[in-house]
Amino acid sequence: MKIAVVGAGVVGIVTAYELALDGHSVTVLEKAAAACEGASFANNGVVAPSFTQPFSTPEWHGNGFARLVRSARRLTRTPWKSGQQLKWLRRWTKLHSPQNYTEVQRAGQQLAAYSAERLTHIAGACQLELERSEGQLLLLRAATTPDELQPVLETLKAQGIVCKLLSAEEARQHEPALHAAAPFQGALWLPGNQVTNCRQFALLLRQEAQRLGVQFRFNTVVEQLHAHATPSLALASDGERQTQSFDHIVFCTGGLPDVLPATLRQRVPLMALHGYVLSVTVREPLNAPRSAVQDLQSGVSINRLGQRIRVSGGAELGEDTGTKDDATVNQLYRALEQYYPGAANYPSGTQVWRGTRHLVADGMPLIGPSGLAGVSLNLGHGANGWTLACGSARLLADLVGAKDTALPTAHLLPTRFAV
Ligand SMILES: Cc1cc2nc3c(=O)[nH]c(=O)nc-3n(C[C@H](O)[C@H](O)[C@H](O)COP(=O)(O)OP(=O)(O)OC[C@H]3O[C@@H](n4cnc5c(N)ncnc54)[C@H](O)[C@@H]3O)c2cc1C
Repeated sequence: MKIAVVGAGVVGIVTAYELALDGHSVTVLEKAAAACEGASFANNGVVAPSFTQPFSTPEWHGNGFARLVRSARRLTRTPWKSGQQLKWLRRWTKLHSPQNYTEVQRAGQQLAAYSAERLTHIAGACQLELERSEGQLLLLRAATTPDELQPVLETLKAQGIVCKLLSAEEARQHEPALHAAAPFQGALWLPGNQVTNCRQFALLLRQEAQRLGVQFRFNTVVEQLHAHATPSLALASDGERQTQSFDHIVFCTGGLPDVLPATLRQRVPLMALHGYVLSVTVREPLNAPRSAVQDLQSGVSINRLGQRIRVSGGAELGEDTGTKDDATVNQLYRALEQYYPGAANYPSGTQVWRGTRHLVADGMPLIGPSGLAGVSLNLGHGANGWTLACGSARLLADLVGAKDTALPTAHLLPTRFAV
């Protein structure tokens, strides 16, 4: 088949690669001048088969309104600003009832584990040399009660995911540079989670995809979709406009693009959540993290990526204002000094990046047929897009090729929101 993949982030690149492996003729259309200029640019790099990334557990106690307020605070740390955001938060809280949580978490863990397997397979088959480290510590402050952790621990256990509860002293054996005064009383250790450089992987895989015949067209905006039996796209590139038909089109655009029909966009509860990542070079490796550390209370993560440290946090719901919140950025600097003082070399330059995650209210991405003939989606991966990219791409390719999929797809199909 002649297939267009819209979007050259990590998801679009792996999808194009998998489709090309299946023998399709693939063209990737990207509005930016280069690959991975969106959410895949400088993310935290955590690949978490445990599916324990932040923003997945709302508050379960209390009456409806109290639950909503506390859940929203956990998710966004900034109050909702519009009726649309409030409506989405209500849906998010409702879809994350304890019963749904266990079911969705299980499906997420299956997809995340499958993705980690695919990542290892692709990196091995293509001999990709990647910046990588193993294990993640989730730091617990005194305020975290075993009750709050119970559902997470139970679903991890049910999936056979190793997760050890450690004392502060035991945690320091994995991360010896954690400062003596760092505010934590214990930690959860997830040896199966890892940090791997997402952008580096995507850029190297792009070359492999090109070797398989995938064409990449940058500075090309998809302006319109004509959804017929043979779908076509109106493209704008370097001031020129053209319409091109394909046998199939896959949108890997992170969020739902405007070119999709309004009925589809309104039906799917997708919201943008913005976050920040500081990248600094390591000054003294002995003072730096070995792998991944996250303070569960604040949501701030501090990860090692080769010769750099990435510190990430913040979660702003809604439209992109394009402005950085100084208070959140300062919180990241403070966290790095609090947990790993002396680790960073600030004078050599610090990159402050604000990126956008597109989150579906039930916490799972949209993978598969969109409901429009010849049009599929592989987007809405939220805070776990890098974790889920490789498995999502293989599932998508199998669905397009009408093959059996390695996992059940009921929790993933975009049509799950059809009324
Ligand atoms: C602060 C932060 C930290 C994160 N940390 C982690 C982490 O540790 N682990 C993890 O698993 N995930 C993490 N994520 C999530 C992960 O980065 C994303 O889910 C993932 O990168 C999404 O990849 P993507 O290819 O779907 O989207 P993107 O990388 O955003 O790519 C989409 C592409 O589509 C293009 N596009 C859109 N519309 C059009 C159009 N009309 N025409 C042409 N091109 C178009 C865009 O230009 C863009 O290049 C993090 C995200 C953020 C923001």
